[in-house]
Amino acid sequence: MRDAVVKRALPLVDSHCHIDFPELAKNLSGVLDRMRENGVGLAVCAGVSIEGFPKILELVQENPQLLATVGVHPEHTEGIDPTQAELVELAQAPEVIAIGETGLDYYWHKDQPEWQRDRFRTHIRAARECGKPLVVHNRDATQDVLRLLREEGAEAVGGIMHCFTESWEVAQEALAMGFYISISGIVTFKNALQVKDVARRVPLDRLLLETDSPYLAPVPYRGKLNQPGYVRHVAEEVARLRGMALDELIRASTENFLRLFPYSSTRLFQ
Ligand SMILES: [Zn+2]
Ligand SMILES: [Zn+2]
Repeated sequence: MRDAVVKRALPLVDSHCHIDFPELAKNLSGVLDRMRENGVGLAVCAGVSIEGFPKILELVQENPQLLATVGVHPEHTEGIDPTQAELVELAQAPEVIAIGETGLDYYWHKDQPEWQRDRFRTHIRAARECGKPLVVHNRDATQDVLRLLREEGAEAVGGIMHCFTESWEVAQEALAMGFYISISGIVTFKNALQVKDVARRVPLDRLLLETDSPYLAPVPYRGKLNQPGYVRHVAEEVARLRGMALDELIRASTENFLRLFPYSSTRLFQ
């Protein structure tokens, strides 16, 4: 008789949140408690500005269940616009696992300014220089996002298409460049048919989960303050859509995260 292989259950990972924003940071211990209660072992705090980055670095150095990214969000019109060398320098700490969030946002900037594309190119070049993956934000700018990723050779580092809301055709283009698709709480919204469709079809070895908290709380918290612990509700809906057991879905998505960010395993299993 062969011994049954007993697979250890893995914790969940929230691949994208903003735990440094005041809504969450002012109750940090409660937010970390909710993570633990929901079996969430890691959360990535995505940088959105250079000014806010020291606080993120402090948070992730004090709390082993948090990891950081460094970058300037495409919505940011004011503040420091870092050079490639400055981004690479800020990304040196091991707990800074990726460059971002970066990308394009033509929803808030309908004039599609050139500076957004310049900044995005700088981030892609920095990611390539330091060998860390990208965290890509896209709103109403899909064709330019894909074009710039291609032109700048982002395939060399890959990364995450975060809070993915585009079609399956677009997902396939990102997958072909080696990117992972991260599904947010939007997947729990009744009318989000396109996101549900993508969540069903993304290859299991390229799927990640996130909250993008404090925004976009999943059902049953829709409209309320979101937090990393709620990534469990995202996982439940994706497992339901795929007809999978929840622990299998969690295992796959967490293994994906650990593959993309090998350093994170030292945080998850310490
Ligand atoms: Zn974003
Ligand atoms: Zn974000």
